[in-house]
Amino acid sequence: MGFMPLHDESHRSDRAGWLRAAVLGADDGLVSTAALLVGLIAAGATKNTLLTSGVAALSAGALAMAIGEYVSVSAQADAEKADVRKETRELAEEPERELEELASIYEARGLSAELAMTVAKYLHEHDALGAHLRDELGHDERTRARPFQAAGVSAASFATGALLPLGAIVAATVSLRTSILVAITIVSMCLLGAVGARLGGAPALRGALRVGIGGCLALAITYGVGLALGTAI
Ligand SMILES: [Zn+2]
Repeated sequence: MGFMPLHDESHRSDRAGWLRAAVLGADDGLVSTAALLVGLIAAGATKNTLLTSGVAALSAGALAMAIGEYVSVSAQADAEKADVRKETRELAEEPERELEELASIYEARGLSAELAMTVAKYLHEHDALGAHLRDELGHDERTRARPFQAAGVSAASFATGALLPLGAIVAATVSLRTSILVAITIVSMCLLGAVGARLGGAPALRGALRVGIGGCLALAITYGVGLALGTAI
């Protein structure tokens, strides 16, 4: 990072953004893999089929998350780079106009015209491009688009969520695996829902219930689909 955060508050909310994305990714991996496995169990799949399908679902899901995240964050990174090119050119071609522009931004934020111009001049001498990117365009080093990092976090959190129901299939006996898988999934979903809600500043219980009920519905529906397919095919 290279600088000291001035306010604990902003530092915390910045970290919450990352954590929330990770919690959502884990929730996706957990629910989609658990629902797939429950559907296959209902259709009468063997342990080998369950494991093969589970690992395939984990890999496919993690890759899809990584690619989706990479594409969307890359678009944001491209827009940021275009901003940098535009500001660099404007600063080189019309430094006076850019100085006035920066001063008028500080004036609009409440500084006197004279003070705003003084601040703008100092900042132009110190790091003109940085000042324009930050104060004119709202760029922020902490929230800068990092496509590879975003892709990695999404893939890793999806895979982590998917490992929970897969672990149940590996560890549990045939007679207990459905109940253990469902129990692990529901408890983990409620925990993730609670953490996600807390990070977003919402009540934990409501978040847990919302995610928990949604997840139970997903499991029940794919179980029904699996049952229907198992008898039809
Ligand atoms: Zn500018």
